[in-house]
Amino acid sequence: MTGELDPLLARIEVYAGDVLRPRALETDRTGVTEQTIRDLADLGALNHLAPAEYGGADLDRTADRRLHELLAGGCYNTWLVWAQHAPQVGRIRQAVEEPGSAFDTALADRLLRGEVLLGVALSDVRRFPDRYVAARRTGDCWVFEGTISWVSGWGLNRWIGVAGVDDSEPERPRVVHALIPIGDGVVGTPLRLSAAAGSRTERVQLTGVEVPDSHVIAVQDLDSWRAADVAGAADARAHHFGLAATVLDELRASPHPDAHKVAEVWAPRVDLIRRQAYSLTDAVTAAGPDAPQRVDERLALKVAIGDALGVLTRALLISRAGRGLSADDTAQLHARSALFALVQGQTSAVREAQLRALAT
Ligand SMILES: Cc1cc2nc3c(=O)[nH]c(=O)nc-3n(C[C@H](O)[C@H](O)[C@H](O)COP(=O)(O)OP(=O)(O)OC[C@H]3O[C@@H](n4cnc5c(N)ncnc54)[C@H](O)[C@@H]3O)c2cc1C
Repeated sequence: MTGELDPLLARIEVYAGDVLRPRALETDRTGVTEQTIRDLADLGALNHLAPAEYGGADLDRTADRRLHELLAGGCYNTWLVWAQHAPQVGRIRQAVEEPGSAFDTALADRLLRGEVLLGVALSDVRRFPDRYVAARRTGDCWVFEGTISWVSGWGLNRWIGVAGVDDSEPERPRVVHALIPIGDGVVGTPLRLSAAAGSRTERVQLTGVEVPDSHVIAVQDLDSWRAADVAGAADARAHHFGLAATVLDELRASPHPDAHKVAEVWAPRVDLIRRQAYSLTDAVTAAGPDAPQRVDERLALKVAIGDALGVLTRALLISRAGRGLSADDTAQLHARSALFALVQGQTSAVREAQLRALAT
């Protein structure tokens, strides 16, 4: 893979193996630390999609996927916090590069240089109109109001990219994606999670938060937002394969020959799902947004990797016997991470595909 030659990937591979992975159990217990975020910034992982003029690595899609695989394989909690931030840098780059862009250049500069960690709050748009964050136009700014169900990295991030829905024209609701500083009118409440527990995920209340146009990343109609979300959330993605690679490694290191056999049988299957998933997404992207998005095929691969992670993490747990359930054993950590992978980025289409597959 060409991406493996990139110096950023080489640095992250070492960091994920030498620092994140040995600490993954502790991170799950005590939470991703400020130091880890500083390390990721120093390594160049907070602005890997930014252009070189901002000190970014400007990674292509293949290298970006590899970065996700490496971090998820090192520590799933760290990956989750980082993964909320990282793609938004690419969105901000697009917003800044648009002709006539009015985006706050000082803020963009800090984000494109990887100096600030962002949280994200996109998933509540999926619940519109039952429950959502409202974006209301008032004078020359937007006012955001409502409950964000999930914000990972709370306490580490200084700004959140929030998607609010403007339904002032009920026939044409729009999604307003904007950056909100964590400050007045933004209050988090801890959640008790049984998976991804170290991801510092909180429920966050927004009360009358005013957002100027210069902090708006994009405004788009809800239908096109949903179409892109349903398609994107349908994919088997790099983090699934990163977690699978770590579990396969641990199965290979088991004293039980039968565990090696599980790895031997499943490694090519995981590799096949990975190759199919990446090439399918690439083909759809190349065909453009107006071409068929092939959501059912993508969902089938997401279901397949969810099943594979279930099998692999169960095999690891079995191989570790009773110790696998103790708090200092990675088998239970990976099994819980695999459960989280089933609900993260879940849309109703994903949920239906997963449940239908289990009913056959
Ligand atoms: C640990 C963790 C961290 C996360 N971090 C982030 C983050 O940083 N940023 C982000 O944007 N997202 C985040 N997510 C959200 C994640 O992507 C969502 O889990 C996903 O979008 C599914 O949404 P949901 O879990 O809120 O469930 P929903 O899709 O809302 O559904 C939950 C269940 O309740 C049912 N249900 C829903 N509404 C109702 C209702 N009104 N009445 C009755 N039943 C109902 C559904 O049918 C379903 O069975 C995180 C999630 C988790 C678990």
